[in-house]
Amino acid sequence: MEPRILELRREIDRINRELLALLSERARIASEIGRIQTELGLGHYDPEREEEMLAYLTAENPGPFPDGTVKKLFKEIFKATLALEEQEDKRKFLFSRETRPEDTRVRVRDAVFGGGAPLLIAGPCAIESEEQMDATAAFLAERGVKVLRGGAFKPRTSPYAFQGLGVEGLKIGRAAADRYGMAFVTEVMDTRDVEVVSEYADILQVGARNMQNFALLREVGAARRPVLLKRGLSATVEEWFYAAEYVLSQGNDQVILVERGIRTYEKWTRNTLDLSGAVLAKQLTHLPVVVDVTHAAGRIDLLAPLARAALAAGVDAVHVEVHPNPKVAMSDNNQQMDFAQFDAFLSQVRDLLEPAAAKRG
Ligand code: PEP
Ligand code: MN
Repeated sequence: MEPRILELRREIDRINRELLALLSERARIASEIGRIQTELGLGHYDPEREEEMLAYLTAENPGPFPDGTVKKLFKEIFKATLALEEQEDKRKFLFSRETRPEDTRVRVRDAVFGGGAPLLIAGPCAIESEEQMDATAAFLAERGVKVLRGGAFKPRTSPYAFQGLGVEGLKIGRAAADRYGMAFVTEVMDTRDVEVVSEYADILQVGARNMQNFALLREVGAARRPVLLKRGLSATVEEWFYAAEYVLSQGNDQVILVERGIRTYEKWTRNTLDLSGAVLAKQLTHLPVVVDVTHAAGRIDLLAPLARAALAAGVDAVHVEVHPNPKVAMSDNNQQMDFAQFDAFLSQVRDLLEPAAAKRG
């Protein structure tokens, strides 16, 4: 090699190292700015600031690079810095696997969400009577189901539709679950009800329509009960995780995520089951993930295939609605299974469920 080139290349190597050290120092300072911005709730991208930097850099450009090249080079640096700041924001989220690599387990009585053995959550849409809940709980417990559901406070599209039995329903649900050794999950819709629902329920459900009710999320975050957080009808996966963050940030680390179908243009199903959202939730968060096939599909013939797909994809539980006599149910008549339909459903998913449920039924 020509000795003059060799010598100049050594100079280049030295400058490369100096540039790298300067770029790294710049990145550390920019991250510090990023942390302060996050603390203050400010965004990282500031186009005016970028314009200002490019203006003095081109004004002071000594050459030989033309201004356009200097701009292009620095814009790449700005882009890399922004990506770094955003990455650091993500790393600190409590829901993130980067914050907590191992799976969170939520234990409720005999049921463990996220423990490796998938569960079933089942029960009627709404709690209607003692007889209805007793019959359902007896039937489900006999088949190894450990978590009983039933709404006492119902979020109905019409204000004139059945709104649930309220506290009376909570009492009925609790008693039925206790009689058959089951855990009881029910929805809480109002911050003012968190206390009374916590008194009767093992798990507080935040419904799809309340996923971004931030006051409610904060309130259940302060409650000492696990929270079943349903994904909003039109919520992105990110918004769903942020909703979980509201709960986690209040000190409640017992959050279970539920994908229950999102609203799309499709009309032949009630909603569209977003299985990729559920899988993303398993991969990107450490929280247990449930797929609610009933509200996703809204039709009984799809429940078993969708449940099989969800279980094969690795979710921690499947949620279904079961009613002793769906024809006379006070809500969601068409999508609730009767007992015979539940048995048929169970026989189709049994091999993918926990051993206890697989042996029975
Ligand atoms: C429910 O589970 O009772 C319910 C109303 O579901 P969602 O909030 O998902 O519509
Ligand atoms: Mn329902």
